[in-house]
Amino acid sequence: MRKDIAFLAIGMAISFLRAPTHGQSATPPTQAGAKRPNVIVIVADDMGYADLGCQGAKDVRTPHIDSLAANGVRFTDGYVSCPVCSPTRAGLITGRYQQRFGHELNPPPPGQASTEGLPLTEKTMADYFKQAGYVTGAVGKWHLGYQPAMRPTRRGFDEFFGFPGGSHSYVDARADANNPILRGTEPVNEKEYLTDAFSREAVAFVNRHADKPFFLYLAYNAIHGPMQSPESYKEPYAAIADPKRQTMAGMLAAMDTGVGQLLDALRQRNIEDNTLIFFISDNGGPTAVNASRNHPFSGFKGQVLEGGIRVPFIVQFKGRIPGGKVYRQPVIALDILPTALAAAGISVPADRPLDGVNLLPYLTGEKNTAPHETLYWRFGPQAAIRRGNYKWVRRDGEEKLFDLAVDPAEQHDLSADKPQLVKELRAAWQEWSAGLAEPLWQGRRARRAPGEPRPAVPNRPAGQRRGQRT
Ligand code: CA
Repeated sequence: MRKDIAFLAIGMAISFLRAPTHGQSATPPTQAGAKRPNVIVIVADDMGYADLGCQGAKDVRTPHIDSLAANGVRFTDGYVSCPVCSPTRAGLITGRYQQRFGHELNPPPPGQASTEGLPLTEKTMADYFKQAGYVTGAVGKWHLGYQPAMRPTRRGFDEFFGFPGGSHSYVDARADANNPILRGTEPVNEKEYLTDAFSREAVAFVNRHADKPFFLYLAYNAIHGPMQSPESYKEPYAAIADPKRQTMAGMLAAMDTGVGQLLDALRQRNIEDNTLIFFISDNGGPTAVNASRNHPFSGFKGQVLEGGIRVPFIVQFKGRIPGGKVYRQPVIALDILPTALAAAGISVPADRPLDGVNLLPYLTGEKNTAPHETLYWRFGPQAAIRRGNYKWVRRDGEEKLFDLAVDPAEQHDLSADKPQLVKELRAAWQEWSAGLAEPLWQGRRARRAPGEPRPAVPNRPAGQRRGQRT
């Protein structure tokens, strides 16, 4: 046998031995001796599409989050699978449309008897990473179940610092006995401004585990209400006339500072290039509540219009993905899990199909097609589907069709001009919807945290009923 053929045969045999098998962690596709990549998923809360410098904001400054885009890829058409907090997180952390397992609506606020949460039959991103030998940590807002069995340390995370509910005071750790700040499973009386505390804990996690592969889920509750910012963060924004926007700018500055501290920690440990970092908001801005902005879209948090579901979405992976790129094909938060698992060489059991797609080959240029032919939304009575640039929306029993390429603000209904397309898209949505579970609970508007103003909906589109938001 020729020497080169012999080497080829040996190489193939090794590849075969290393091939991922169902239900087992696979040897990562990295060079021998190379360390498996770290993964960090940063989730912002209620941040609008236009609230970052790299997304066009002029009155606020977000240099550290912007640097992720400069050194990575910014998605123009990045979506979440729901326009409110908890269902989006359920989709993100499982890689599956959350309606498949009934997590369609926000759960009621935490109470002594709350049983709602991510079904225990679902496998989380942390479960996959933990099984593959990663150290796993969650910092920040959980909102995927309140009972001990549903909290992060029982859902694949080795470590947790944060709160189980959907919102929290930034200045009073004991504001809600049903929603304490926890370290692991123990309540703590955190004294620092909460966003700073979450950044501190994220940096500490990296410093503790820099020598082994880790997965960190950093879910800030900024810039969700209550609107609370230290003067030190607000002061640079004295020129912003709207006091709510000024407070929001301060809350955002705290988060951006924290992202900068996290990046510094990675650099000091010389692991930034080998760390895959996602940044995303969990839904569009509730503009009247937190003075966020969804420009150029119409719609808000709670709606399947673009303003509720298209969000800031960035990935940085210096060692693998060229920086400074803008990616324009539609992607969705469900893609984060399969992308991260692929980067780490972790396989997914075939009996648990994911709806997300591994984006790496699209971002490196190996693949030039669209990652998704179709994206779907179902949120109570609201429905939407996007195929190519066309988007069909049903709200209040009224169907509309938009061409997002020329009408991103969804102002010009084309349904009368293109009835055949409406029929096709409606049928495709119905087929998808028919395969989903019924909602496990009925949504209710989350209880306001102390000091959080009653949300106004002055911009509610004509025809939308009060109480549709959850
Ligand atoms: Ca949210």
